[in-house]
Amino acid sequence: MARTEDASSDSLVGIVVVSHSRALAQAAVELASEMLNGQPVRIAVAAGLDEETLGTDAVRIKEAIQEVDSPEGVVVLMDLGSAVLSAELALDLLDDPVVGERVLLSAAPLVEGLVVAAVAAAGGASRKEVAAEAHSALMGKAAQLNTAQETAPPEPDAGEQADVTEVAEMAAEFTVANPHGLHARPAARLVNEVRGLDAVVRLRNLTTGAGPVPAASLSRVATLAALHGHRVEILASGPKAPEAIDHLLALAARNFDEPLDDAPGPIPVQSAGPLPASPGIRIGPVRTLSSAQAPAHLPPATSPPQEWRRVVEAVAAVRLEIERIRAVTARSVGPHEARIFDAHLMMLGDAEVLADVKDRVDSGASAVTAWVDAFAVVEKQWTELPDPYLRARAEDVRAVGAQVLAALTGAPALTMTGPGILIARELTPAQAAGLDDAVQGIVLAYGSPSSHAAILARSRGIPAVVAAGPGVLDLAEGTTIVIDGSTGELVIDPPVATLTQFRERAAVLEAQQSKHRAAAGKPAFTVDGTRIEVAANLGSRVDAVSATADGADSAGLVRTEFLFLNRDRAPDLQDQVAEYLAIAEAMGGRRVTFRTLDVGGDKPLTYLPMPVEDNPFLGHRGIRLALDRRDLLFDQLAAICQVARKAPVSVMFPMVTTVAELRDARSVLEDAAGAAGLPEELRVGMMVEVPAAALKIATFLPHLDFISIGTNDLTQYTLAAERGNAAVAALSDPLDPGVLSLIQQVCHTAAGRVPVAVCGEAAADHAAIPVLLGLGVRELSVSPHSVPSVKARARALDLAHCISLAHAALDLDDAAAVRQLVSSSPAGHES
Ligand code: PEP
Ligand code: MG
Repeated sequence: MARTEDASSDSLVGIVVVSHSRALAQAAVELASEMLNGQPVRIAVAAGLDEETLGTDAVRIKEAIQEVDSPEGVVVLMDLGSAVLSAELALDLLDDPVVGERVLLSAAPLVEGLVVAAVAAAGGASRKEVAAEAHSALMGKAAQLNTAQETAPPEPDAGEQADVTEVAEMAAEFTVANPHGLHARPAARLVNEVRGLDAVVRLRNLTTGAGPVPAASLSRVATLAALHGHRVEILASGPKAPEAIDHLLALAARNFDEPLDDAPGPIPVQSAGPLPASPGIRIGPVRTLSSAQAPAHLPPATSPPQEWRRVVEAVAAVRLEIERIRAVTARSVGPHEARIFDAHLMMLGDAEVLADVKDRVDSGASAVTAWVDAFAVVEKQWTELPDPYLRARAEDVRAVGAQVLAALTGAPALTMTGPGILIARELTPAQAAGLDDAVQGIVLAYGSPSSHAAILARSRGIPAVVAAGPGVLDLAEGTTIVIDGSTGELVIDPPVATLTQFRERAAVLEAQQSKHRAAAGKPAFTVDGTRIEVAANLGSRVDAVSATADGADSAGLVRTEFLFLNRDRAPDLQDQVAEYLAIAEAMGGRRVTFRTLDVGGDKPLTYLPMPVEDNPFLGHRGIRLALDRRDLLFDQLAAICQVARKAPVSVMFPMVTTVAELRDARSVLEDAAGAAGLPEELRVGMMVEVPAAALKIATFLPHLDFISIGTNDLTQYTLAAERGNAAVAALSDPLDPGVLSLIQQVCHTAAGRVPVAVCGEAAADHAAIPVLLGLGVRELSVSPHSVPSVKARARALDLAHCISLAHAALDLDDAAAVRQLVSSSPAGHES
């Protein structure tokens, strides 16, 4: 957001520049500043979805308005088409209606309007005067060119007199060369272009006679069903009609920027082959996810403004979420594949659809009913298209519709098509957390073993294989498949002999697991008698019940953020106390370590809008975000303190990088504890996930009772390999000697002062366990289902062997060499 101001500008009208292009908006502001001769004016820019991507966003416009607002009010200047719609939505989003009342949306041309508006505002004009100045901005140009009459339509000359409409609306045609016609991606490209043009454009399918339809509406363009080889007519009117025609013909000649040899569909293989993500063997039919339906019992509609506001907020939240996924896909898969999300964004911003929703709300429908009914109309239009490929794109409409529905109701957006093995492209943590019991196994085309979806699968004991490649997405519903989540094996439609083999393996595994489960209730001592605490990682009270059943000695990590997902607002203090207490009670007096909210990165919250970040994992997440949302952190710490007065509880902070952050978080904790002071039994710790924190660990120690190493994040940051990215999943291995040497530094410095646990996924990795124990780790916190086998593993180890193994590992080249070393040592032999 750019601004030209100083403190003395507070009593001046503020200006917001809304444009599809950030570069354009910034250049316009620069131009206006030239005219100001240093006089202060408050100007904020809300333009583009990011530095390069064209688009406008209501939430950002709202923020820009709030930024330059004062009692004098705000004038908003916009460029074309959906910029106007977004600005109107932004007014609906403003928390304070008083602010909205002093905002004027100006119909003035952006650049000329901004220049005169800035000068007028700097001179102390009222907002009406600023808006009036902007409105007449073209007069100077018109007078100079002696074309003041141009505001009226040009007089047709005698030859053209006969057909006025022909003059007003220019026409041209192109033939669709894209193999699948104008399907979602090329259509979105076209619509996006049209929305950036100063012309009214309509399209007609000359081959079928469908249309004309407004070219700025994706849902309407879809109804043209323009297939490969169809002739499409462009009808353009308005000041820039000729340029619009040239522009669109050029775009059509470039096949709407879709490579013709790259038929839409599955994303190309980028994975290094299926990777094991959650142990266990499963045989079952392929199942997929389908969009959730509206709840059967809906609360009655409140007032139309309130219901419309709910729609606007849900759309804005989903928009941010799609932009985030789009940015991640563009980075980790490719910009071409990310374009499908442009189509989703277009559908969300489709003025015709939103107008339909608003009409329904104005006639008394609730937000949910209006949304569901309006989207049902759009979906029907798509499902009735004659071409099967285009028809299948109704899936995109459904996906977007379901996402907004989920944001409106707080329910998961997707459900399984039936019991079996779920095949999906990827799962967000919210989707993974919301999966029902019908899921017997999971196969993801992308993702990695340390992604939160994989962690959730492990915590629920659901066998999973990730990074299986896009080919799995083409498997027909119901096809029998076998997965082994310990080895990453995936067999499609296996012959009887293979099925028998897997059934036998599953039986052996089951026998071994029941042996381990029978001994899991007892503490684990290594062969030489060293006690190893085996704790559980929890996301809910259900996990706590499994953890005690599985013999966990304590809960080493409660990912409290999972309690905050799949809801439409943050849980309040009472909700949190109830949930934390239920977890502590289910743990039956065993110590429970609550980690404070760790959102951001790959765990966004719909009700906590976060700006799209280029590198979310390096961005505003964990304690960084929590310290900026002290209201949430305070409530959470207050709830934890209340529970800590009744049960043995620890608290730890995620993603700490500096001692200042830790001190700051501790001071919020002290405030939240209230007059009674910190609960006596409460222990305070931090997670070591950032390499800098590991290297500086000595400076943190005076403020800590314990340390828990989060190897999932520590590994991604140390090896610069994003944890959810299938393409680098093999590189992202916690046994890399670089990661091990940071763990060694932490253990060595903390020895004799505070205990060190590992709560990342490495703690359950049988090859990693001897190395971690050899480095000095004495607590392993793992998913509840892994507790019995981790205890069994620890019992089979001799610490002296582990120490020499760990020292040798530190000198090796890479994780593969460490794994090789472990498997060839005595520690490599499983019990
Ligand atoms: C970790 O980073 O290792 C960790 C335990 O935290 P999370 O996986 O929730 O980011
Ligand atoms: Mg982490």
